[in-house]
Amino acid sequence: MDCNKKNCELAPDTCEALVAAVGAANVKVTEGGVTVTVCSTEQVAAVAKIAKKAKVTAAVCGNTPITVTFSEEMQKVEVVPEDYAVKAKAGATFQAVIDAAAAQGLILGAQPFHAARTTVGEWMGSNTPGYGSYKYGTARDAVLNLEVVLKDGTVIETGYDDIGAYMSAYNLNQIFAGSEGAIGIITSATLKAYPAGVTKSFAYEIAGGLAEADAAVQALIRHPNLKPMRFTLQVADGKTMLFLDYQGAQAFVDTDAAETDAILEANGGKKSDAVYKPACYKFKAVIPIANLAKSNAKMAMIVDRYTALVSSDSMDDIKATIETCGGRKACGWAFADGNIEKIHDEATSKFMRDLTGFLAEPNVDDIAKSGDKLSRAYNDAIHEKLVEAVGKDNVNESGPERLLYCHDLAPLPKLAGIAFDNIPDVVVRPSTTAQIAAVMKVAYKHGIAVTPRGNSTWGLGGAQPAFRGIVCDCSSKFNKIVVDEKNMTVKVQSGATWKATLDACMAKGFIVGSYPSSFPAATIGAWLSTNGMGIGSFKYGSAKDNVLDMEVILSNGEVLHTGYGDMGNYNSGLNLNQFFVGSEGTACIFGTVTFRIHPMGVIHPLAYDFENLADANPVIQAIIADPSIRPLHIAWSDHYHFEHQKMAGLHAPDVRNLLLVTYQGQENYVDMEIAVTDELAAKFGGKRVDDSIASHEWDERCYEFRARKVGIGEIPAEVIVPAKTWGKFVDECYTGFGVMKMDIGGIIGVMVDNQTTLFMPYYFKDDEMMTGMLAFAFNMYLGDRAEVYGGRSTGYGIFFAGNLDAAHDANTVALMRELKTFLDPHDVMNPGHLVCGMTKFGIGMSHGLSSFMFKMMQTIKKLMPPEHNFENNIKRFKFNKYAEEKAEDRKHVLGRGYE
Ligand SMILES: Cc1cc2nc3c(=O)[nH]c(=O)nc-3n(C[C@H](O)[C@H](O)[C@H](O)COP(=O)(O)OP(=O)(O)OC[C@H]3O[C@@H](n4cnc5c(N)ncnc54)[C@H](O)[C@@H]3O)c2cc1C
Repeated sequence: MDCNKKNCELAPDTCEALVAAVGAANVKVTEGGVTVTVCSTEQVAAVAKIAKKAKVTAAVCGNTPITVTFSEEMQKVEVVPEDYAVKAKAGATFQAVIDAAAAQGLILGAQPFHAARTTVGEWMGSNTPGYGSYKYGTARDAVLNLEVVLKDGTVIETGYDDIGAYMSAYNLNQIFAGSEGAIGIITSATLKAYPAGVTKSFAYEIAGGLAEADAAVQALIRHPNLKPMRFTLQVADGKTMLFLDYQGAQAFVDTDAAETDAILEANGGKKSDAVYKPACYKFKAVIPIANLAKSNAKMAMIVDRYTALVSSDSMDDIKATIETCGGRKACGWAFADGNIEKIHDEATSKFMRDLTGFLAEPNVDDIAKSGDKLSRAYNDAIHEKLVEAVGKDNVNESGPERLLYCHDLAPLPKLAGIAFDNIPDVVVRPSTTAQIAAVMKVAYKHGIAVTPRGNSTWGLGGAQPAFRGIVCDCSSKFNKIVVDEKNMTVKVQSGATWKATLDACMAKGFIVGSYPSSFPAATIGAWLSTNGMGIGSFKYGSAKDNVLDMEVILSNGEVLHTGYGDMGNYNSGLNLNQFFVGSEGTACIFGTVTFRIHPMGVIHPLAYDFENLADANPVIQAIIADPSIRPLHIAWSDHYHFEHQKMAGLHAPDVRNLLLVTYQGQENYVDMEIAVTDELAAKFGGKRVDDSIASHEWDERCYEFRARKVGIGEIPAEVIVPAKTWGKFVDECYTGFGVMKMDIGGIIGVMVDNQTTLFMPYYFKDDEMMTGMLAFAFNMYLGDRAEVYGGRSTGYGIFFAGNLDAAHDANTVALMRELKTFLDPHDVMNPGHLVCGMTKFGIGMSHGLSSFMFKMMQTIKKLMPPEHNFENNIKRFKFNKYAEEKAEDRKHVLGRGYE
């Protein structure tokens, strides 16, 4: 290597540093710079630091002074079948990933069309649809974890290798999709893989162009179950060829084929023997699928139920398509040539550029000071400005009202409030996004804390103010819901409840993908904000996975539009649709959100009884391993759960330990899924119980803690653990109940996805005595145990902000804290939560302090005698029963009152 060569533009000391970092043999002088071959993440980090010092760019592709290439070491691929995951170094070709997975019977969801010449790093940095996108989403949806070297050499990990990144603070997993290398160098990726089954290809011929093929396309996308891997139309010689690939278990693929035949036959299509041949057209646009018929493009790839990526060899065709169909140019290099400004509004494109700059080199020293001189005191002048923003009737400073808004559902003694300035100065009730933006502008200017609030059911103090200020009550008036059947979306203001949204969709034959079991009260914005798991997550992902577009109100009152209304946001720069989820009200307030909704078909719950709860493990694992059956929801309840309901005088089924598996979709598919599940359950000792029991449990899915009827605290210890450890973790919960001398409530929980399971073992707790607080030690105990299995406890709020340090490595946590400052430089968005649990005395609830306190609680709890709160309370609350019996005895007679 000769850095003194004339064509090397790097300073000799930079070259020498590179040689020292990676060895002389791995530094080659090229036209205008050097190419450095790296064999480890540490080397990438060293190169990044050198580049930063020399003020030049180091990147994997593009004409940069330092080009990074990956040695063989950085091309390794490891399949982890039990996690349904592939860990691949960034230099591996995607074909290598596909082949390695196939050897283990797995398939990658989204695959680049040119897999042999696309590396994992390139694919992860793109936000481009590929093969499999219609069924499994794009590259970003496959990410479990990315290891990334930022431009200053910091190495971060965005998620987890063997468990989903739910309730784990700012969602970094999907922000690198579409960054095209602008943020940093991706060094490895852990990707979701799926049981493969078989893949079969089908072709149909339709006379005419896209206009004539449209009826078939619209019918296919409205089918509740058809999910082709390939869904492509090619127009030539006066006809359109439709190519579809179906993947899964043979019987299901055969049914897909039969259903498709029928749809095509009814819509002018003829089955063909043609074999798909890739066609590549230079000019591309992303358009709403509703307008596909108006496009004159030569090819259309159907990306999802909302979006078509159309292409042609003529730019005029594409321009005409955009003019007639709406949509936008598909942007290859979003951050080059002012492209991003052409496809996003001013505020959103500016935000994307600023965010990219920040993430590349997270440094907030300057902006952190910008709020130093703010008064941070609420006064009459601010009151007047709020009145201007939302109207007199929607600004409330009355004492009782403020008291009502000073806490959430957390079952804490009133004394616990003393640690925080939790009584707000004022409660506002906006009804439009513009009003929320106006409130934020006032708060930003004066440094007043704003706590966004839904219906306060979370219980981690997320909606409890830590520094007085303004509570922004989203649920009261910001709750409109508009279902769009034609486009299969629901547009909903973030204060609406999930139940109201689900009801509105079901009335029109659709369901929302997933919702929390607290859906009668839980609001849209809050569940996005906590990135929670819930009912339907197993089939449709979490709330974020169903977002098409949203308004996001930033701390300074700017409003972003993260997507494109009724169309997917592919080839359009960073994926902001998912970025703000998990921020727990500390980064933004959600405005109106547009969700995908799904044709409902039928919903059929089944239930299987097992002698021991852990006996259900092989059935659960076999369901996950099946390439076609996909329950809407999998949940379980153990025998204690039912026994306590009976003891509380409630109706409960006569079962031991119940596995509830609920299917949804077109009836013939649901019947097939039921048949497979019956067979699996019978094989492993599960007895199917009457469907009325399953329906009862499904109907009661939002009343998990029914035994509370006896008037007692009932608290779940929520943890997530890798799905593969389900059976062992059941035992772990029972052991924990014993070790911690808990008053056992029962074990309930849900499967979240192929990698993740949510356990909610719950216990009864004395809410009246201060010592009742000690029972919380079980939550810490179980969180610690979950970590041993590769899991963790979930959510941070005001009380558990210290856990953030346990949930991610130090670099990633530091980045998240800086991200908070970048997003909220005046520290007005729910301060004292998530990234920094802070009491009013200025004592931070740091990880060290919290761990110490929680360990103390555990020790004391273990020394205390076992608890029998439930039994004791039943005796005490017998008076309730008498009162109920008395009420039943008295008959109300119209006009005569009670007799
Ligand atoms: C019986 C029961 C069952 C539950 N089941 C589940 C479950 O299955 N899955 C699950 O994940 N959780 C569950 N939860 C927890 C809780 O109900 C959910 O987290 C729910 O989403 C909270 O909704 P909320 O409107 O009550 O939010 P709140 O408690 O009011 O707020 C929660 C957080 O969201 C923030 N926030 C609220 N609105 C907005 C907004 N518009 N924009 C930005 N941030 C906002 C708040 O600041 C706070 O940090 C359950 C709780 C109970 C009591």
